[in-house]
Amino acid sequence: MSPNRLNRRFALVRRPEGMPVAADFQLLEEPLPPLADGQFLLRNHYASLDPAMRGWMDDRPSYVPPIQLGDPVRALTVGMVVESRNPDYPVGQWACGMNAIEDYSLGGPGRFTNCVDPDAVLSVTNYLSAVGTVGFTAYFALLEGGEPKAGETVLVTGAAGAVGSLVGQIAKMKGCRTIGIAGGPAKCDRLLRDYGYDAAIDYRGKSPEELTEAIRAAAPDGVDVHFENVGGEILDAGLLALNQRARVVICGLISQYNSDPYPTRNLWQLIVKGARMQGFILTHYVPRIGEAIPVLADWVKQGKLRVDEHIEEGIENALPAFLRLFDGTNQGKMILKIA
Ligand code: NDP
Repeated sequence: MSPNRLNRRFALVRRPEGMPVAADFQLLEEPLPPLADGQFLLRNHYASLDPAMRGWMDDRPSYVPPIQLGDPVRALTVGMVVESRNPDYPVGQWACGMNAIEDYSLGGPGRFTNCVDPDAVLSVTNYLSAVGTVGFTAYFALLEGGEPKAGETVLVTGAAGAVGSLVGQIAKMKGCRTIGIAGGPAKCDRLLRDYGYDAAIDYRGKSPEELTEAIRAAAPDGVDVHFENVGGEILDAGLLALNQRARVVICGLISQYNSDPYPTRNLWQLIVKGARMQGFILTHYVPRIGEAIPVLADWVKQGKLRVDEHIEEGIENALPAFLRLFDGTNQGKMILKIA
């Protein structure tokens, strides 16, 4: 290994209060340690930027430990092995794993890295989108959490986003009627045109009452599966449209990741509708990801599943790219090109 090679790492140096700001991070340059037996060095080409990262920046118990101050921000990355002391990860092999926003990541024992085949997908970035965490989430959370049946109505919030756009398309494949909620007319156009939604609702500028009205108008027969990515008033409005024995999948609550929790008012609807509300966390499905990979890769390759990726360039742009998830200016799965 070149002793002079430096690793740029996008590190968390202060815990954000509310929306993250530049002073919460620092771009470190550190020398790379020599490889031990069994280790390999991955040159990260792309890093996935996910809303969940905001939660990992807080010092509180969650499904993964908080990012330690001074450590690089944890991220799923895809890259190429450039040095190796592990025969299962030869130089030139593409691999994907839970690493960090950094030029190079060490792989090997105790690290979660999978070899990937760029020819099985349209682009290697698909391993961070439709054949990555958001694809697995859409697949398992909808099919197992929502249990959609043909003819049922599925309502998706955050519907034009990475998870939401896939959920809508998979629900359509299962024969459901789909209604998407997103911010702004351009995203609503995309719901109908690109992701096959049957109806689109722009939540921006609507009071909770107007939103409830819009959902009832789009779903005159009620909602059987409510797939929640956003939370707050949007979830509350959706609860009022549930059918008997509806399933509410709480996949994400992005509207509250930088603020205090919203006091949900309409939970009583779960009682009177005998409905089920269930949280979803992908980590529970890690042992089953092997089931989803070939299905999702096949759908992508055959053009049955449209995947939009929003790729921003440069590790120095990690923060502005990440913040696009919260102001809604991302147009698809948010990915940072590092190499
Ligand atoms: P998206 O690509 O959907 O991007 C985030 C979108 O959220 C924005 O484009 C914006 O869309 C919307 N948004 C942001 N802030 C607000 C707000 N205050 N109110 C309403 N909408 C808002 O991101 P992902 O697809 O990666 O993630 C979607 C959700 O899925 C997140 O909640 C995430 O945490 C969750 N998730 C959960 C997983 C799990 O295992 N449970 C795994 C992966 C993701 P718009 O312009 O329409 O407002």
